[in-house]
Amino acid sequence: MHEMSIAVAMVEQVTEATGNEGSCTVSAVRLQLGELAGVVPDSLHFCFSLACTGTALDGAELLIDHVPGRARCLPCGAQWATGMPPQLCCPQCEGGTAELVSGRELQITGVRRAGDEPRADARPASVQAIEES
Ligand SMILES: [Zn+2]
Repeated sequence: MHEMSIAVAMVEQVTEATGNEGSCTVSAVRLQLGELAGVVPDSLHFCFSLACTGTALDGAELLIDHVPGRARCLPCGAQWATGMPPQLCCPQCEGGTAELVSGRELQITGVRRAGDEPRADARPASVQAIEES
């Protein structure tokens, strides 16, 4: 399963990034995920929770920011949303020479540590805090 290896790599990456602080645990991980990255979000959520078990990320929430696929036509410069499966033929001049502008993202953009939690507010507060920072 493709998503499982991504989830395991994410956990390793986050553990490495926060590892120096010993007992630190992670409550949420924010991921930028392109529409064309070939990852099924539901499947990734599932694999992520499995991959987190027994690590500093145990029970951590996975927050996914979806990045829509966009392409640009090289000859005429038009830009459009590719959709999925991606439409890479220019709607303007019907040229076939397009490059992807976005949509292949797959990267961690934020990590929230359990200790940073604002007390008495354990709900989506964790989400807001990441967005604010
Ligand atoms: Zn064009």
